[in-house]
Amino acid sequence: MRIGQIFGVTIIVDVSWLFIFALVSWALGSSAGPFHAIDVTPGVRVALAIGTALLFFASVLLHELAHSLVAKSQGIPVKEIRLFIFGGASSLTAEPKTPLAAAWLAFAGPLTSLVLAVICGFAAMGLGTAAPLGVVLAYLATANAIVGVFNLVPAFPMDGGRILQAIVWAISHDRMRGTRIAGRVGVVFAWLMIAYGIVSVWFQGFGTGLWFTFIGWFLLLSAQGEERQAKLQVALRGHSALQLAVPAAATLAADTHADTALKLMLSKGVRALPVVLGDRFVGLVTLGDFTHADGPSLEETYVTALMKRDHDVTAIAPSADASEALAILGKTGFHQLPVVDLDGMFLGFVTREGVIDWLAHQREPQVQAALNHP
Ligand SMILES: [Zn+2]
Repeated sequence: MRIGQIFGVTIIVDVSWLFIFALVSWALGSSAGPFHAIDVTPGVRVALAIGTALLFFASVLLHELAHSLVAKSQGIPVKEIRLFIFGGASSLTAEPKTPLAAAWLAFAGPLTSLVLAVICGFAAMGLGTAAPLGVVLAYLATANAIVGVFNLVPAFPMDGGRILQAIVWAISHDRMRGTRIAGRVGVVFAWLMIAYGIVSVWFQGFGTGLWFTFIGWFLLLSAQGEERQAKLQVALRGHSALQLAVPAAATLAADTHADTALKLMLSKGVRALPVVLGDRFVGLVTLGDFTHADGPSLEETYVTALMKRDHDVTAIAPSADASEALAILGKTGFHQLPVVDLDGMFLGFVTREGVIDWLAHQREPQVQAALNHP
């Protein structure tokens, strides 16, 4: 769900965020919440709870915006900020170039949270906790302090993990080594959280224990994914999408009948084929497109009626980074990414199988070293 743009960065709210928003609002408005002690009507209490939850998520957004603005100042384009059940995430399209830049980029978020905590804390002290606004600010101070401190834990995927990575990188002049260490610490930290969660479910029942387990599990998956991603990125460094592309098993002329196309795809054992008009790429037809075909029989239908048209197909330029192609496959879940040049010529597909094959056959020591590290 796209909610808008700030400083040219698209803000996306995931559906899972609504769940955590409802949970936080409910916890704030409940009889155990912070507004219980002050003398307000139930209606006002609910409004205060929802308002406070919104302000808390605005603080999380500010934390992410701080990362994004520092990234932009370093010349790294920011695709989007996504708010989801476990907080926020900024997707950057490139990596910082120096350890100092990486450390500053990572530190900007927690710094923002801690500054917000201090400002809200002082304001709350000024107002006193008898005033509704004082309670709101006191809650925001605590919540931002927790977000800031938690994110400084030196483990992937927390910001502190990125700071640790930058420090190791600065000392050893080896970014990969920093990634490995921060990733390893991340895995250990995640397991500790899961263990703590399980123990507290055992002794205190569900609730926070279950929550800790879920967060730990999410952190574990992120830390492992981060390690894998880093290895691949190093291995693919300096290679273009075109270098990794594999030719299509065949190309279909635009006037091919659908039944001929389907028979060809089944006989070649492929999921997708490009459709061309002369030399130009005009669309992509996948096996799934045939299942939606109704109306005239396949013998009477042209493949162009079933295919996804070129401007609806996600494609990549031949000179783009190989790791970018892989990232798109990962994000979209597509099986193949067409490589199409500026003149609209189809040059091949980047597929996951193709990338694995390419990696396996690489003799370059740089690629092998990146993949063989434990
Ligand atoms: Zn952060």
